[in-house]
Amino acid sequence: MSDSRMSTYKPLPIDLVKGQGAIVTDSQGQEYLDALAGIAVCSLGHAHPAVHEAICEQSKKLLHCSNLYSIAVQHQLADKLTSLSNMDNVFFGNSGAEANEAAIKIARLYGHNKDIKNPTIIVMENAFHGRTLATLTASGSRKVQAGFEPLVQGFIRVPYNDIDAIKSIAATQSDVVAILVEPVQGEAGVIVPDKNYLENLRTICDDNEWLLMLDEIQTGLCRTGKWFAFQHSDIQPDVMTLAKSLGNGIPIGACLAKGIAAQTLQPGNHGSTYGGNPLVCATSLAVLGVMESEALYDKSSKTSQRIVEGFKQRLKDIKGVQEITSFGMMFGIALDRDCPELMLKALDKNILINVTSGNRIRLLPPLIISDQQADKIVELVSELVIEFLQD
Ligand code: PLP
Repeated sequence: MSDSRMSTYKPLPIDLVKGQGAIVTDSQGQEYLDALAGIAVCSLGHAHPAVHEAICEQSKKLLHCSNLYSIAVQHQLADKLTSLSNMDNVFFGNSGAEANEAAIKIARLYGHNKDIKNPTIIVMENAFHGRTLATLTASGSRKVQAGFEPLVQGFIRVPYNDIDAIKSIAATQSDVVAILVEPVQGEAGVIVPDKNYLENLRTICDDNEWLLMLDEIQTGLCRTGKWFAFQHSDIQPDVMTLAKSLGNGIPIGACLAKGIAAQTLQPGNHGSTYGGNPLVCATSLAVLGVMESEALYDKSSKTSQRIVEGFKQRLKDIKGVQEITSFGMMFGIALDRDCPELMLKALDKNILINVTSGNRIRLLPPLIISDQQADKIVELVSELVIEFLQD
């Protein structure tokens, strides 16, 4: 069949038509256990009644009215997010990339306000921040950037989890204004930095008057066992970006700021037609309500332990399994060879998984999965890995 869509993706050969909890169903009636949640989006699973109800109720009232008018439910969502995170204020966009664009603009304006002519942001190797021109430049993957040169100026790259590399930039460069970093690198295959990484970054930022900007688009909102991954350490970022599970499938991005970063953007500096419209805000409020009432941060920690122990037992002596990494409900299994075909092979076992960075299986299940479903993920993915390595 010809395809009139631009070929930006090579979709797998199933057509998903509905979902319930952690189970999705294709057009042939086949059911799959969803261990990816639309890449960390559907943390509450599919067709959650509270999300359904919020969408229905808000759509009866007002979908959209523009940010030229005050939107009460947007205020409520901003209040909720700032109180959960101890940040000061929020800008709403429609995606993760847009949230990061807002962060990048805040950093640049912050720099210009200090008379820094070429404000420069430190970013990481193997980072992923999005597909717009600025965010693909900030991303640390040639695959994402190739063909889209000239890239955007004003970024300098260092290895992830390398504090000395940043210290040496601090000693030699005077135009740095911020560090943009993922608390755990998701797209790179669930790469977890040293325990004190964020604290060390915070200290360097404080010493140099740089903004610490955390991309929590994948790690945020209960996935790692806290509301936000930075809350595992004793620090507060200046800027934090969210998207993905904030809408559980309704597109939304949010850039939160604190202190001087929160005072940087002024009317006319930034905007979005759809960002923070009544529909997305009402939905996100419902999502946060469920996360809170079901204490999904605690549930994430418990389910994570169960899954990690399961994988360690099943895969510990398997030759070809290089490492198993995890942080809350983010799991990476690195093999000694590339394995992109496992995404297709997983469909034969009725499970949805992801392979990233060539050789790393990535799992980001809905946070609401039952213990039985958690065990099933371990069983099916372990079987898949063992069979693949035996071939
Ligand atoms: N930042 C991180 C850490 C991500 O994982 C992603 C998406 O995978 C993005 C940014 C980009 O988000 P979006 O695809 O919504 O633009």
